[in-house]
Amino acid sequence: METKFIFITGGVLSSLGKGICAASLGRLLKSRGYTVTIQKLDPYINIDPGTMNPFQHGEVFVTEDGGETDLDLGHYERFIDENLSKYNNFTSGKVYKNVIDKERRGDFLGETIQVIPHVTDEIKECIKKTLETKKTDIIITEIGGTVGDIESLPFLEAIRQFKKDAGKENVLYIHVTYVPYLETTGELKTKPTQHSVKELRSIGIQPDIIVCRSQIPLSDDLKSKISLFCDIEQEAIIDAIDVKHLYEVPVNLQKEGFDSISMYKLNLKYKVSDMQSWKDLVNIVKSLDESVTVGIAGKYTNLKDSYISIVEALNHGGYYHKKNVDIKWIDSGELEDYEKCTEVLASVDAILVPGGFGIRGINGKINAIRFARENNRPYFGICLGMQCAVIEYARNVLGLQGANSSEFDENTPYPVIDILAEQKVVDSKGGTMRLGSYQCNIEAGSMAFKAYGQKVVHERHRHRYELNNDYRQALSDAGMITTGIYPGKNLAEIVEVKNHHWFMGVQFHPEFKSRPDRPHPLFREFIAAAVSCKNNRKKQ
Ligand code: GLN
Repeated sequence: METKFIFITGGVLSSLGKGICAASLGRLLKSRGYTVTIQKLDPYINIDPGTMNPFQHGEVFVTEDGGETDLDLGHYERFIDENLSKYNNFTSGKVYKNVIDKERRGDFLGETIQVIPHVTDEIKECIKKTLETKKTDIIITEIGGTVGDIESLPFLEAIRQFKKDAGKENVLYIHVTYVPYLETTGELKTKPTQHSVKELRSIGIQPDIIVCRSQIPLSDDLKSKISLFCDIEQEAIIDAIDVKHLYEVPVNLQKEGFDSISMYKLNLKYKVSDMQSWKDLVNIVKSLDESVTVGIAGKYTNLKDSYISIVEALNHGGYYHKKNVDIKWIDSGELEDYEKCTEVLASVDAILVPGGFGIRGINGKINAIRFARENNRPYFGICLGMQCAVIEYARNVLGLQGANSSEFDENTPYPVIDILAEQKVVDSKGGTMRLGSYQCNIEAGSMAFKAYGQKVVHERHRHRYELNNDYRQALSDAGMITTGIYPGKNLAEIVEVKNHHWFMGVQFHPEFKSRPDRPHPLFREFIAAAVSCKNNRKKQ
């Protein structure tokens, strides 16, 4: 069949959940037997979000092929259960760079390079490029930003043109808006939606479907009003009411007829939907009562989106054990005093130190790890969290005073974490880390092996520094063993502490591969350890 193109734009305000809307529609269409991919086009000038501060942009999601991408790709992967590629995320920066590179190469000799057609053509190429990596029946393209932003104009113009290129029966425009509730009058207001659709139409795009985010249900009257002002049939006004749990969204949108109207408008053959396994998952999520508390000691705890895949992976582990995971966010800067650290962490059932960059808060993280190690509290260190666990062990168990990562102290006498020779010569920061999927060989009998149940796994990376092999033996002799290795370069991927309830550090980012109905094995086992630690402590 010919590929169908679905474009999702947003209006009224940002952070509307367009990404979740795209991911949900992807899931719904996949569950009807169609193959689906989802792509994000971001209007900012950075080539990718890899160089942005997580406070600004949230997590950088890493794909199998080493793309540093927008966090929405994480939602897409978790909802449609497909691995995406770096070609599923393009930014204005990447688009302009391609155009300028072509100009320098002489591809446009004699021409004046302009936004239309050169930049818009390049955007259309980017949309098709995603399909080249994997041909699917449907591609959903989410346009970042809000309609009305200056910087998203070339993208909107490109998707407007797309209708002519791909044939109007193959293109669908979905506009996600917000219908605010006015407490004082007790009413939902449609005016912002009307204005946003007007803005979109002024660019030449008539939406086919409007998804209205709202706090309370939209009445039929209200839908009919939006339908009248925006020239859309009432059945194509979809109410996306706020829900408690993220994974309920596709089920709710299906009740509103979101997938059936999309299929109808795209002339897609009707196929029966099988959302049963997803509904089973939602039932589990809604029925969780008992909780375990995981303390996350990190640097970006004010913006929870900075660790969104970790939060989701912890939740997935919780669903497996039918437990709610309560997260206690701890700014590692507040843990610098060990006594205070023990007070803060006394009540948590398990501790996780996530990835990160830079020295701020490092000693607090090291204190949190020491607390976990000495008090037999389950510990999971991810990337920087693994590196800090090694530093802590070197300092407090091996007695190597001043042991550090050369990222934080270039002159440390004991660089237990160090940069690879090949990274030393790299000056530029964008896209130059060890990125993407690498093989990891697991030692039989280890905790990691118990979790994975296999000897060879592949995990995604995003870092520059590594455990320094000069210290591996000493660490191992003292009880911190390396149980996972990247065979290509003999790099430590996993460390474990012997005779501990559950203590593991991993150089990779397992959170990116966890799925709601298939928790990542390490998160599954970490939560299991948190549950048993909680039960043991109750008995004491
Ligand atoms: N800053 C560390 C490194 O570059 C860890 C990176 C991370 O946690 N993603 O190796």
